[in-house]
Amino acid sequence: MTGVAHTYDIAMRVRFRGQERRRGVLLEGPAGWGEFSPFPEYDAVTSAPWLAAAREAANDGWPPPLRTRIPVNTTVPAVGPDQAHALVAASGCMTAKVKVAERGQSLADDIARVEAVRDALGPGGAIRVDANAGWDLDEATAALTVLQKFGLEYAEQPVASLPDMASLRRRVDVALAADESVRRAADPLHIAGLEAADIVVLKVQPLGGVRACLRVAEACGLPVVVSSAIETSVGIAAGVALAASLPDLPYACGLGTVPLLDADVCSDSLVPVDGALSVMLSSPAPDRIDLVAADSATAACWEQRRAAAQAAIDAG
Ligand SMILES: [Mg+2]
Repeated sequence: MTGVAHTYDIAMRVRFRGQERRRGVLLEGPAGWGEFSPFPEYDAVTSAPWLAAAREAANDGWPPPLRTRIPVNTTVPAVGPDQAHALVAASGCMTAKVKVAERGQSLADDIARVEAVRDALGPGGAIRVDANAGWDLDEATAALTVLQKFGLEYAEQPVASLPDMASLRRRVDVALAADESVRRAADPLHIAGLEAADIVVLKVQPLGGVRACLRVAEACGLPVVVSSAIETSVGIAAGVALAASLPDLPYACGLGTVPLLDADVCSDSLVPVDGALSVMLSSPAPDRIDLVAADSATAACWEQRRAAAQAAIDAG
């Protein structure tokens, strides 16, 4: 059913997951465009939901939106306080996600960064910290006890394991969001059952599409923050569709990531304006697809990955 496929190969402005380039396939189908961009190390089974999400976008489209504007956070990497302040002030966002627990840095670095971000946002802005599972239980307890004086909306994946998340929730007075703990559609139900988080971070491709995420959100009963897997505007549009169709959207989403890429495939890029993304249809432009087209060896490799993911879907 899905028609033409275009493999893209785009440089990252900032290294992400150790990668300097982002690659994937754009699929055009009767309902629109889908993106299939599992990370390089992912096998066929792990990549299968990513393909299901792309096929949903291309073949079926998405449920109707309930809102027209999706607030997004700006992201502050593990930089010094002056740079953190400048990034937030320039972003136009009222919500900042601040990286903490960076390897090789100290709690004092985190405190200085979060303090600078609070100063830049003012009292009305929201700060969430993301430790990417970089603390152990005692470190997380100590860090969040100090950092909460700057006013934290929540802490994202402060510790790695769900039992530690559940213990930490009872130790600190900060809401916790599960991100890395959500890898499969069944995970959020497990997280809710363990009372290990207050919020779940959902990403459309790893969970197999917008409808799959809506089912997960309903089943787990926790508030959802929709985040990207660092995609072109084609993949981001699926995240926007999810955020637009959730019954409740109490938090800004992590969908403002197109500027992390050196190029995009749409002329109407899904780049935040005044801290939000518009819910709009955005199709790739042929000249832009050509500009970021992968070489034939890369395209052949992605053709194989797509066939393997399809075989994994067919095998159930
Ligand atoms: Mg995260």
